Amino acid sequence: MFLDQNQQLSFIKPSNYEISKMRIYKNDIGRIENMDYDKKSDSYICKSGKQLSFTHVRRSKSKTGYVSEKTIYRCEECKDCPYKKECIKGNNCKTPIEERNKVLSVAKTFLKYREEDLERILSDEGILLRINRSIQAEGSFGEMKKDMLFRRYLSRGTSNVLAESVLLAMAKNVNKLHNKIQKGKTGTHLFLLKSA
Ligand code: SF4
Repeated sequence: MFLDQNQQLSFIKPSNYEISKMRIYKNDIGRIENMDYDKKSDSYICKSGKQLSFTHVRRSKSKTGYVSEKTIYRCEECKDCPYKKECIKGNNCKTPIEERNKVLSVAKTFLKYREEDLERILSDEGILLRINRSIQAEGSFGEMKKDMLFRRYLSRGTSNVLAESVLLAMAKNVNKLHNKIQKGKTGTHLFLLKSA
């Protein structure tokens, strides 16, 4: 939301990006990601073909003062469902599983941004930027630690450490510019994708 309000785009892998490709995640029938959503009735359809309908919106305030909103959906037909044990989580719940119904707590704003972010990182531009981040940012740390032998700060205190970091970054950039001039690669800041 902050980036959105400041007219910036993120190209950051969603936190569930890696795990979402795993079979265990894809087969988890209790996840909203594996249920169909019906926009018209604002409800989810589960593995049993039952509806999880909107019940209410729950708001909570974090320590920083941010008010988050969760939309709650509930299924009323879980009784005798053969998938109940797979679908309903929370083994520590005091209510016996036979008496429980599936409840979903959905952070719609978060899901919206996550979906948009995923779409961006999978686009050609997103792939190009991700590759460059791993080459350039990670590579820079490696160069500073291994080639420039920077293993620890020589000074103490926030402002001194900041000054040392700026000097280090300047040295790194001069090196980088020198290499680019030698290779005739000035004017390009991204490594292009190699086509197979
Ligand atoms: S437990 Fe309820 S929500 Fe889950 S699959 Fe069965 S009927 Fe659907």
